[in-house]
Amino acid sequence: MVSMASSLTFQPVLERIAEDMERRPGRGRAADYIPALAAFDARRFGMAVAELDGTVYGVGEWRQPFSAQSITKVFTLALGLAREGDELWEHVGREPSGNPFNSLVQLEYENGIPRNPFINAGALVVTDRLHTRTGHAADTLLDFLRAESGNPDLTFDQGVADSETAHGDRNAALAHFMASYGNVDNPVPVLLDQYFRQCSIEASCADLALATGFLARHGVRADGTRLLTRSQAKQINAAMLTCGTYDAAGDFAHRVGLPGKSGVGGGIIAVVPGRCTLCVWSPGLDERGNSVAGVAALDLFTTLTGLSVF
Ligand code: GLN
Repeated sequence: MVSMASSLTFQPVLERIAEDMERRPGRGRAADYIPALAAFDARRFGMAVAELDGTVYGVGEWRQPFSAQSITKVFTLALGLAREGDELWEHVGREPSGNPFNSLVQLEYENGIPRNPFINAGALVVTDRLHTRTGHAADTLLDFLRAESGNPDLTFDQGVADSETAHGDRNAALAHFMASYGNVDNPVPVLLDQYFRQCSIEASCADLALATGFLARHGVRADGTRLLTRSQAKQINAAMLTCGTYDAAGDFAHRVGLPGKSGVGGGIIAVVPGRCTLCVWSPGLDERGNSVAGVAALDLFTTLTGLSVF
């Protein structure tokens, strides 16, 4: 185990992880159901660790922007919960689904209330409610990410948003189905536009590790103001641990032992409460939509450092 007595020791750990990843064959495949993401080389790799005070360490392509995709669901949940409080949990559950992220099957049995905020159905509900309260969910999210990462250049990738819109039948089906149960406020095309923009945000490992910091600081933003109560921050970390990697959440908890959230762009964020946040990127995915090298790198990080919640 590597001593974590000094923050400077994160850099050698990251370098050791990158060397290990370099030697591994088989990295999965980039997401091809969103054509704009399919072109990425599965072997690309970057990783960053941010400390609570905003100090960031990185290795590989840790400053390379990539498509954040479902990682953004953590931030819209935080922004929605901050505005709405507990009532949000009447419209979206907090149980693992055990199904793929874009599955429709449970929605009918459960009367249009999605299992959790991180499957697509749940994220659509969260974005819908945030949009109602702010007038523009995606811009609210982008402003938040810019502020927390300290990077004013973060932006949407319109090409990715358009690509998802053109291939968005399944998300449209989820939204229409939930609308039929009265669990969507805005017109479905408006909601889908907000959701696809949200998913298309481009950010680097450094940006996303920094932006996740409020979850390691128990709800406190980078500028010292409070976004969430301590209890709400706990709720989000718990949802990440149990639902953040979909039907692989058990395996992720088993291997990594941290709250984490993946996206089909190949990124994964993770939280060590009270200590630091991480983001890793490698575009090759497994069949459940999680980055192969990303999970392996986080697994190695917690093994080498002992920094897990267990
Ligand atoms: N935009 C993607 C979708 O809706 C997000 C999925 C993901 O990253 N797991 O299908």
